Formats: sequence, structure tokens, C-alpha cells
Amino acid sequence: MPRANRRAATPRPLDLGRALGGAARREPYAGGEWFVRQVSGADGARTYRCPGCQQELSGIPHVVVWPADGLGDLTDRRHWHTPCWRERATRPPLGSYR
Ligand SMILES: [Zn+2]
Repeated sequence: MPRANRRAATPRPLDLGRALGGAARREPYAGGEWFVRQVSGADGARTYRCPGCQQELSGIPHVVVWPADGLGDLTDRRHWHTPCWRERATRPPLGSYR
């Protein structure tokens, strides 16, 4: 079952992301856990290349994703289009995601 459906159908009693003020949530990917933070992108100050589609994104809401396994650091953050991250299981990324 697609993850998006599962999440929608089974709300967790405690949403850690909300408990932390919406800072980040954890999601599974590529055999590990990842922090995912929704950002507004409103400043538009920087342009990022989405690992999912290899297109640039700037000035739009998107997600920032980084490994939750503690092995990476802030340079492992990747800026994804929200739909590209959501569909990562069925549309494998074209670029490096860490
Ligand atoms: Zn994308």
C-alpha cells in the first residue's frame, strides 16, 4: 500500500513533528529513517536541485530531508519538491539523495 494512503488512513496518536512545533517528522526511505521538514521557501534566496526530478526549485514550498541515522551532517540535507518526496517509492530519484 502506498505510504501516503497508509498515513492518511492511520493517524498516529502523537505526531512528533507537531509535538516539536512542526520542526521535522521522521519518514522511512531507502532502508533508513529520515527527518523531513516542510519549509515555505518563501525567501527565494537560494535555488536548490531536487534529487527526485533534477529540476531546480526556488521560492516555492518544499521539503528538506536529511538522514536521521546520525551518520550524516547538515551537508546531507536535500531539498525536494513535496510531490517528488511523496512519490519517491514509485518514482525513484534521478539524483543523489544523500
Ligand atoms: Zn522534484
